[in-house]
Amino acid sequence: MKVKTRKHVLLSFLVILLGTILFSVQTVLPGNPAGDTTGQTTASQVQNNQQPDPQNSSSQAQTNSEALSYYEQGLKLYYQKDLNQALTLFNKALSLDPNCYQALNAKGATYAFQGRHTEGIDLIKQALTLKPDFEYGHFNLGLANELAGNWNTAISAYQTALRYDSRDAWAYYGIASIYGRQGNVDQTVTYLKQAIDIEPDARETAKAEHDFDPVRKSAKFQALLKPASSTSGANTASSSEKTSSIPVLYYHSVLTQKGNALRVPPEQFEEQMRYLAEHGYNVITIAQLEQHIKGAGQVPPKPFVITFDDGYEDNYTKAFPILQKYRFVATVFMVSDFINGKGYLSAEQLLALQSAGWTIGGHSATHPEFNKVKPEVFTAELKVSTEKLKNILGQDIVYYAYPFGKYNDGMIKELQKEGYRMAFTTKKGWINSRQNLFLLPRVNCYADMGMDEFIKRVTNPDY
Ligand SMILES: [Zn+2]
Repeated sequence: MKVKTRKHVLLSFLVILLGTILFSVQTVLPGNPAGDTTGQTTASQVQNNQQPDPQNSSSQAQTNSEALSYYEQGLKLYYQKDLNQALTLFNKALSLDPNCYQALNAKGATYAFQGRHTEGIDLIKQALTLKPDFEYGHFNLGLANELAGNWNTAISAYQTALRYDSRDAWAYYGIASIYGRQGNVDQTVTYLKQAIDIEPDARETAKAEHDFDPVRKSAKFQALLKPASSTSGANTASSSEKTSSIPVLYYHSVLTQKGNALRVPPEQFEEQMRYLAEHGYNVITIAQLEQHIKGAGQVPPKPFVITFDDGYEDNYTKAFPILQKYRFVATVFMVSDFINGKGYLSAEQLLALQSAGWTIGGHSATHPEFNKVKPEVFTAELKVSTEKLKNILGQDIVYYAYPFGKYNDGMIKELQKEGYRMAFTTKKGWINSRQNLFLLPRVNCYADMGMDEFIKRVTNPDY
C-alpha cells in the first residue's frame, strides 16, 4: 500500500482546483470518465478563479475557499503522516462546509490509516456521492479497502480511479501490491510495470515494500526491479505484445426475445459486463483503440471495446444503464435511416449517449448488402448517412462498421475519401497493431452463448 507521494500532492491540488470550479459552475457531467469534454470549460474558468472579483464573490464561495484552505493544510500534514493534526484541520474544513468532498475524502483516508476502516470507507463514499467523478476519491476508496483487507473491492476502486486518470501510477501500484500479497506473480508484475513506466520512483518504493515479499524471489519480479536499461529486453517486449491485442465485442440488441441470437437478454448482458468489471478489464473508447493501433497513447491493462450495430433503442433503454453501473462506455454503429424509427434510437438518445462518452459511428443509410448492389449505391449511402449523423451529433463521423460485414476495395477507398479512419468487419478475432485499419475483426457476442464461451472469447485471442 502506498499513499500518493509529493508529486501527487500537486496533482491532487489540480484536481481540487478543477473540482471546485466544476462544482461552483454546476457543470458536473454525468459519468464521463475521461473528462476530456471538460477541458475547455475549465481552462477559461481557471483564469476566473485566479482573479476573483471581490465584489461578486458570494458568501458560499468564501466558505468554500476557506474550507478548502483548511483542507489543503490538513493534506500536507496527512502526507507527513501527522494524522491527528490533519484530522483536526479536515474537521475544521467540514464545519465550515459539510459538503467539502475533498475534506470528507481525506478524513476518510485518515480514519482508514487509524484503523477505523468502516467509518473511513463511509466518509469516502459520501465524498463520491457529492462528486462521483472525483479521481482521488476512487483512489482513496481503493486505499481504505486495501487497509481493511477488502482486496477485491480495493482493486475495483483503484481500477475506477484509473478510468478517470489512466496515468495514476499509485493506483497501478496499489493493485500490484494486493496481487503481491496474494502471491500472484503475473498480475503483480503487469501492474507494477505500469506504475514504474509512469513513475520510476515506484521501482524504489517497491524494493522496500513488504507487500511484495511473497513474489519477491520470482525471476519476473526481480527483472522488473532492475534499472530501466536492463529491462528493455524480452520482458518489455512480451508485455507490450500482450496488451497490443485487444478484443472489440460486438452486439446488436439487448432485449429478451426467444430464438433471436441478435437479441442478448439484459440479464445475460449484465452477467458478461459484471464478469469484465470484476476481473480487472478496462473499457477503452474506439478513439483510444485507434491511438493504440497507431502506436500512440497508452491503454490500461486488460483493455476491451464494446460496440453495437444498427442502433436498436434498447442500446439506450437496456444496455446503457447496465454499462453506466460499471462505468463502461460503448460505440453504436447507427443506420441513419433508422434514427427515430420504431425500436431504434432517436436523435435525442444518440445525443445523450454521446454526451455520456459513447461514440457514434456509421453503418450505411438503409443497411443493404453492398456486395449485391452497384458501387454507386455505397457511395451515395455513405454521403447521406455521414451527413445526417454529423448534423445530429455536431461531430465528425470517422468510424464505420460494414453492414453484414461485406466490404471490398472500392468501399475502403470511398470511406477514406469521406474522412473515415477505421472500419470494422464481422471477421472473428482480436485486434493487433499489424492489422489493416479498414479490415478490423470483432468478437461476436450473441444470445445464449453462455458464460464459458464469453469468457473464452475475452481471455483468448485465438478463441
Ligand atoms: Zn448491421
